[in-house]
Amino acid sequence: MPLLELEDVTAFYGPVQVLEGVSLTVPESGAVGILGANGAGKTTTLRSISGTVRAEGRIVFDGTDIRGMRPDKVAALGIAHVPEGRGTLGDLTVRENLRVGAYLRRDRKAIATDIDYCLDLFPQLQSRIRSNGSALSGGEQQMLAIGRAIMARPRLMLLDEASLGLAPSTAKNVYEAIGRLRRESGIAMLVVEQNANLAFTLVESATVLETGRNALTGSTAELRGMDEIRRAYLGG
Ligand code: ATP
Repeated sequence: MPLLELEDVTAFYGPVQVLEGVSLTVPESGAVGILGANGAGKTTTLRSISGTVRAEGRIVFDGTDIRGMRPDKVAALGIAHVPEGRGTLGDLTVRENLRVGAYLRRDRKAIATDIDYCLDLFPQLQSRIRSNGSALSGGEQQMLAIGRAIMARPRLMLLDEASLGLAPSTAKNVYEAIGRLRRESGIAMLVVEQNANLAFTLVESATVLETGRNALTGSTAELRGMDEIRRAYLGG
């Protein structure tokens, strides 16, 4: 049984339908990518999982039907959403932001251990631990947003455009850290990414969305071999 299964998911902003039947699965400890042009529905697919947009169809996480569930309930089941734009809290310090990620937990010692782990994964945050979120660079905010998700001890992480607006070397650093997190934690990942070259360093398979539907799904190796993927997403 996959950890997450979406079958024929549709989603709406008010009366406007933006997903027209999206299906995908994420295996336990697997990493799956979602590629597609602007407006294809990648972000909306993640939102339909985390409960922040109205969705129809089947969305099953670890055997539980989570479609239509409130976002806080979905989070409590073990799904952490790292949103596009990061969503770090500007008025709180780095340490406070990390603590916020652990708001459902009471295991103080393990929380402290996990904060140390985040700082080991993202050493740049160590020297910024008392800085406000708003004072961080874009790369540091992205690291903090991922750190906050780690603090929830999720089984599945939804990552939306983690490289957006970052210098290439910073984006590479962030993806290397996500790869290490994956190897060390076994957290499953569903990864929306414009930069397919980066995404393919992390995921085993991906689906390409076009106007709210799956256009193609395959293993990373299969997709790399397709001319249309190379042209549209891999820069030639
Ligand atoms: P991007 O990379 O630009 O974020 P995306 O593939 O993630 O693209 P979505 O953000 O899921 O695409 O958007 C899918 C469609 O839904 C687009 O046509 C977009 O204009 C529309 N849309 C997104 N958010 C809203 C909203 N809050 N209200 C109405 N329409 C929206």
